[in-house]
Amino acid sequence: MKALQYVKVGAPPEVREVPTPEPGPGQVRLKVTAAGACHSDSFVMGLDKETYVGGFGYPLPMTLGHEGVGIVDKLGAGVTSVAVGDAVAVYGPWGCGNCYQCAQGKENYCERAADLRITPPGLGHDGSMAEYMIIDDPRFLVPLGDLDPVENVALTDAGLTPYHAIKGSLGKLGPGSVAVVIGTGGLGHVAIQLLRALTPAVVIAVDVNDDKLALAKDVGAHHAFLSNSDAPAVIEQATGRKTVTAVFDFVAAQATIDLGAALAGVESDQVLVGVGAAKADVGMLARPYDATVRAPYWGSRGELIEVLNLARAGLVHVETERFTLDEAPEAYRRLHDGTLRGRAIIVP
Ligand code: NAD
Ligand code: ZN
Ligand code: ZN
Repeated sequence: MKALQYVKVGAPPEVREVPTPEPGPGQVRLKVTAAGACHSDSFVMGLDKETYVGGFGYPLPMTLGHEGVGIVDKLGAGVTSVAVGDAVAVYGPWGCGNCYQCAQGKENYCERAADLRITPPGLGHDGSMAEYMIIDDPRFLVPLGDLDPVENVALTDAGLTPYHAIKGSLGKLGPGSVAVVIGTGGLGHVAIQLLRALTPAVVIAVDVNDDKLALAKDVGAHHAFLSNSDAPAVIEQATGRKTVTAVFDFVAAQATIDLGAALAGVESDQVLVGVGAAKADVGMLARPYDATVRAPYWGSRGELIEVLNLARAGLVHVETERFTLDEAPEAYRRLHDGTLRGRAIIVP
């Protein structure tokens, strides 16, 4: 079968011919119907100069893709909870299934995954950017139902991750609150819709790219401003306040972390979702009282079901651009160049 593979650290991915995998006992094989390209893949492949950290730590070559949906195609011995022909979405942050965090469905925060070398598909072992993929356990599958696979595959990360990040601040985002979304690409443009659907907050989008700001307005941001040193003043002018309730930072470079810190008020949240190499100051002398900084990761299985339900209710959608597997390297070039509208989706 054909697969998009990460072959060499620091080099772009390659389309390669690989053996079609067979499901072992307890595993499920999917015929992949769609796979999303995330900026974290570029980070992992070492394609971004700012966040390049050297090696990878897992065996290469590896098929990319940690956003995936498909049709159950073949069952390994003993699998009974899904059936051949089921349309499913892949829950990506696999855990051990047994620890306290996993017991709550929070496999994204599994306490043993690192020790057991359990990784998400596409981030340590073969992922969804291929004609077929193997799922280690049917509990990592969530029913997709009649949701369109291409339009909704990115909800497994670009939807779930901002959903989990926003849920952590939901109690603060009441009437009169202000939420800032920094970086309105794949994750950020979904975050804006989630904030509009779940909260009465005024939503302000910030990006360095005018097209992304236009997208932010299209999907519901009340205001959209360029990310530069004027941003705090422009935001104050728009809201009448020097500080905001929460900042969701989908970049987490030094400039955006500094912007978030400049906007921090008493009991505000600065939520760092982007995989940046920058640092944030915390402590009594660095921040207003009880201002928090946190860095959430992906989301729980239950939250993925909730996000898909929001899509079914028409409250959130993903802007997508489609690519074939042969065109997938071009999708990553466009992601790197910042010329995508929303998410690049690979349709094998
Ligand atoms: P993307 O490339 O689609 O979007 C990034 C956006 O940030 C773009 O619109 C870009 O123009 C904008 N941007 C870049 N520099 C900026 C700056 N200085 N100020 C304002 N905006 C700026 O990427 P994505 O796939 O949405 O991923 C976003 C980030 O989230 C990445 O760092 C990715 O690795 C990370 N991520 C984290 C998790 C998690 O669980 N924490 C999950 C998925 C992705
Ligand atoms: Zn991702
Ligand atoms: Zn666990």
